[in-house]
Amino acid sequence: MCPVRLVVFGRQGAGKGTQCLRLSERYGVPHVSTGDMLRAAVEAGTPFGMKAKAIMDAGELVPDDVMVGIVDERLGQPDAEPGFLLDGFPRTGDQADALDRLLGERKLLAALNIEVPEEVVIERMLARGRPDDTEDAIRRRLELYVEQTAPLLDHYRGLGLLVEIDGVGTEDEVAGRLRSAIENRLG
Ligand code: AMP
Repeated sequence: MCPVRLVVFGRQGAGKGTQCLRLSERYGVPHVSTGDMLRAAVEAGTPFGMKAKAIMDAGELVPDDVMVGIVDERLGQPDAEPGFLLDGFPRTGDQADALDRLLGERKLLAALNIEVPEEVVIERMLARGRPDDTEDAIRRRLELYVEQTAPLLDHYRGLGLLVEIDGVGTEDEVAGRLRSAIENRLG
């Protein structure tokens, strides 16, 4: 089977984490989340983790060259040979270009964008009732996501890799749409 190499985009609250877990199990490929990797480094208390924590706490981005090094190393591991689900990377245009270069002949199958309208994710997040989830804070995070991500979606659209997935519906419905999109690309 053609390797299932995917980049997954989706706003906070779009159900990306849950769907990545299901896809990872179904296709037997690792879920490579750069946010999770950075949080693990913070937990481990390594010097790198301490630097990363300061950046993450400030809501800034870890420098591109550092992130590219981490992802390059991770995707070179044997479990990523049958494919991978890249989540949280790329986050900038330079990261997207670097990813194209580091993958070389390992072509991506698709870039999936799980699309959920802003009003729906705001409702979902408000329903969780977390103290940092005020409507203003949520709107600001969503705005930043759109600013950061829209150019990346254009990058993958230009490469003919972008597939938009309707993220409104039950978890099973969305999982079914993702599966059909992937099977379609696998041919
Ligand atoms: P996430 O869990 O994907 O929202 O990531 C949490 C935080 O980790 C982000 O707010 C950034 O500070 C950092 N981070 C994760 N992925 C990247 C990336 N590709 N480039 C730069 N910083 C990142």
